[in-house]
Amino acid sequence: MGTFDNVEQAPPDAIFAVLNAFKADTDSRKINLSVGAYRTDEGTPWVLPTVAKVEGTLKNVNHEYLPIDGNPVYNAGMRDLALGKDSIAIKEERTCAVQMLSGTGALRIAAEFISKFHQSKTILVSTPTWGNHNAIFKRANLDILPYRYYKAETRGLDFEGMIADLEAAPEHSTVLLHACAHNPTGVDPTNEQWAQIAVVMKQKGHFPLFDCAYQGFMSGNLADDAFAIRYFVEQGFECLVCQSCSKNFGLYNERAGCLTAVLSTKEAAAAVLSQLKILVRSSYSNPPNHGAAIVANILSDASLYKDWEDDLNTMSGRILSMRQQLHDAIVAKGATQDWSHMLKQRGMFTFTGLTPAQVERLTSEFHVYLLKNGRINMCGVNSHNIDYLANAIVEVTK
Ligand code: PMP
Repeated sequence: MGTFDNVEQAPPDAIFAVLNAFKADTDSRKINLSVGAYRTDEGTPWVLPTVAKVEGTLKNVNHEYLPIDGNPVYNAGMRDLALGKDSIAIKEERTCAVQMLSGTGALRIAAEFISKFHQSKTILVSTPTWGNHNAIFKRANLDILPYRYYKAETRGLDFEGMIADLEAAPEHSTVLLHACAHNPTGVDPTNEQWAQIAVVMKQKGHFPLFDCAYQGFMSGNLADDAFAIRYFVEQGFECLVCQSCSKNFGLYNERAGCLTAVLSTKEAAAAVLSQLKILVRSSYSNPPNHGAAIVANILSDASLYKDWEDDLNTMSGRILSMRQQLHDAIVAKGATQDWSHMLKQRGMFTFTGLTPAQVERLTSEFHVYLLKNGRINMCGVNSHNIDYLANAIVEVTK
């Protein structure tokens, strides 16, 4: 009898399961729309030219430990990226920033921090949300309360539902907000709606936890994509911001992320930093160097920064163009339903509204792989497969 003989087999991760089925398919027309990463028009991964350039020039590389809170130049750059250099919170020295194991690691440490130090253990999470959010918050022993977000009829925001749920929640709850490019729906509040969300959250004393995984990647404009975060800080909110460099620097496997905290005083910022370091120390001791070193170089050099913004525009521009072209092709081929949501939704994903049965047909008959909830990654669409894909979508929605 072995010690772990009673361990039950866990189900495979939904996204990786779709990926494995795609890999096993031998049809040359197969299309993968499930992957959460950027692809070029040739369907290949893309190393950002600015990242490649910096990578070739990294000097003084050794393999010494980084500090527990990571690379200080990186942390300052990431904080400025989220809050804006001229943020009042930075001027008043009431922020701290800690390098994290990408966005997921930042969410995990943020969740543990909230679980340990916030008076309320309740966290409000949008329905639907990125699958890992619920798993992460559950592991940190937070009480998850869903809030309405997506309206199937309009394939847009359920703004009234969201506001009503924020109002009905216990006071001083934490609210997880996707800073931009909501995953999986691609549906974001407008700037005016963010302002109304802020009013309700202030009345209720709710605490914002921002997940910022797509800054610059959505619109190509770093400030526009950080609007919600910066607006809340201007309105006097404290907050935590979980940042990822996976998408906007294309550094998926380097695990470069950051947790930036805005507090009410300089003293609180110092104390929070000290406690975050304790959580990091007992989790993985200190973070990896390579990805953060690349990002630190780019963020601290005006010319590289500009080059990186060009790279962001290349990626966001291609995605926007695919949205338009796929929409137009579906309409041209005689779509029987409205597809305007494909143009209105933003970022990497479109929440198509395809039913599980239609998704099943797309996969079994047309070799098109996507998540059961109908989410497609626009980066999987390119000039070579767009015509075939539009046809397949029209066929299954007839
Ligand atoms: N949050 C959201 C909303 C995401 O979509 C992702 C990546 N798919 C992440 C966080 C975390 O990604 P990573 O750990 O690679 O930074």
